[in-house]
Amino acid sequence: MTANSANSATSAMSAMSARPNLRLCTVCGSACAKFKPGPHGTRLDASCPGCGALERHRFLALVVPALVAHASSTSSMSGGVLLDVAPMRGTTPLLKATVPYPYVGIDFDPSADRRVVDVTGSLTHVPLADASVSLLICMQVLEHIPDDAAAMCEIARVLAPGATAIVQVPRRRGIPTDEDPSVGPEERLARFGQADHVRYYGDDFEDRLLAAGLSIEILTGRDLIDDASAVLLGLPLTETLWLCARAGTGPGDLTAALRAAMPAVLASMLARSAATALAERTRLEGSLARLGPRRPLHRRALSYAARKVRR
Ligand SMILES: [Zn+2]
Repeated sequence: MTANSANSATSAMSAMSARPNLRLCTVCGSACAKFKPGPHGTRLDASCPGCGALERHRFLALVVPALVAHASSTSSMSGGVLLDVAPMRGTTPLLKATVPYPYVGIDFDPSADRRVVDVTGSLTHVPLADASVSLLICMQVLEHIPDDAAAMCEIARVLAPGATAIVQVPRRRGIPTDEDPSVGPEERLARFGQADHVRYYGDDFEDRLLAAGLSIEILTGRDLIDDASAVLLGLPLTETLWLCARAGTGPGDLTAALRAAMPAVLASMLARSAATALAERTRLEGSLARLGPRRPLHRRALSYAARKVRR
């Protein structure tokens, strides 16, 4: 990545950000006018029609390549695996393509969400050796686990020195964590936001991570991108990730390093997006050619779709 290509990516982002009806998915690279509503229709403009990625997945897709670039530039890549806890189908291909560590997907009950995993197991008893994980992803998982202290201790145990765990939970500020593993699905839905959640984290979330032997750096969308890019990428500036490391082994000021890596990450994302658009246009034009002069309505629809694909 040269300074020129990073600068041209920044200019391209600015130009695209000026188009109010354009969204780019950082996960699959597809472009659309607006994202679809999120789960249960709770949020408009949330879910990528191409891959189903939500805001948190699009944030992850910016952060992971930046983390890898930082680890590579500081020669701090350890020889462990990428452990993806409760993997999302949409992000797995990107993670496998971006992260140079062997990929291991793990889930306690993959059938619950038709996940494709390599290992069936609980985060409270990870079947991996101490210090064997170079990057761990644990998004929206801990609020499902009754013994979250055990899960957090397992994260600290399996992380290699200097390795990062990307953690995210739903969290409310200003109140302590509300939890009760004994209540039924109906009350869980009302109190914790989902029928299979056992708590809603509050102000003490960081204390729990610290007690498990983890150090924490809190990263928000605002740390990495500006307002216009946030709209284009469908990524709220308040989107938050907790970057954790085994206490005493953390790689230092990650936020500054990730911010510095952002122009290169965005340039790479734009190149992928352009390749996706070209492939789609080629596919549509191929269909047009095969159709021949007949079926004018079908031809018109295909032709319109091909023109709409961003060049
Ligand atoms: Zn997508």
